[in-house]
Amino acid sequence: MRQRAVWNLKFGSGIHCSGQNSRIRPACLYIGGPEMRELFMSAPNLIILGPQGSGKTTQAELLAKTFGFALLGAGDALREIAQEDTELGRKVRQTINVEGRLVEPELISKVIKEKVAAVPKDRGLILDGYPRSLAQYELFRKFWPETGRGDYQLLCIELSDEEAVKRLTKRGRPDDTPDAIRTRLQSFCTETVPMVS
Ligand code: AMP
Repeated sequence: MRQRAVWNLKFGSGIHCSGQNSRIRPACLYIGGPEMRELFMSAPNLIILGPQGSGKTTQAELLAKTFGFALLGAGDALREIAQEDTELGRKVRQTINVEGRLVEPELISKVIKEKVAAVPKDRGLILDGYPRSLAQYELFRKFWPETGRGDYQLLCIELSDEEAVKRLTKRGRPDDTPDAIRTRLQSFCTETVPMVS
């Protein structure tokens, strides 16, 4: 199982390709367009990443709807756990809402692995926000072959910090406090970008 390609999507524009695997010229690929369909049919497993506020979940939802794929969101899964009145629920709540840090790679990897196993193998899959650090990627690479789902591709939405902060202040989620926003933008740079590279 290998990673087929990395696609960098500039916020509000077409997809810009990077890396040696690029098969389509920049700006000629649009989410939901025919090229995307062709791309998906060849490896219907997509990882979508981007800094907070980049709209990755909105795009992931659109893609899932357009192509009839299952959508697994790491943030959504963690927000569900955070609502539980258990020790784990309280811990996750503190990590995501107060500290704005990533939860332990083992925890999120276990959650996603179980969710992936519940999706029929013949259905396309979009992973929203996982893996997002090198440690998570190592764990992902270990369990992914067991899923029997074949190759996967990575789509990364790019946007500036200023634009991200502007968009987030309008959103108003419990974890959209100035401190948590700063920590999350920083963790995107220090943990996710090196993994994408
Ligand atoms: P998101 O919905 O992607 O903005 O994620 C919300 C919060 O959930 C993040 O700020 C992290 O605290 C946590 N989170 C989401 N995805 C992950 C992940 N892959 N690994 C660890 N923590 C995550």
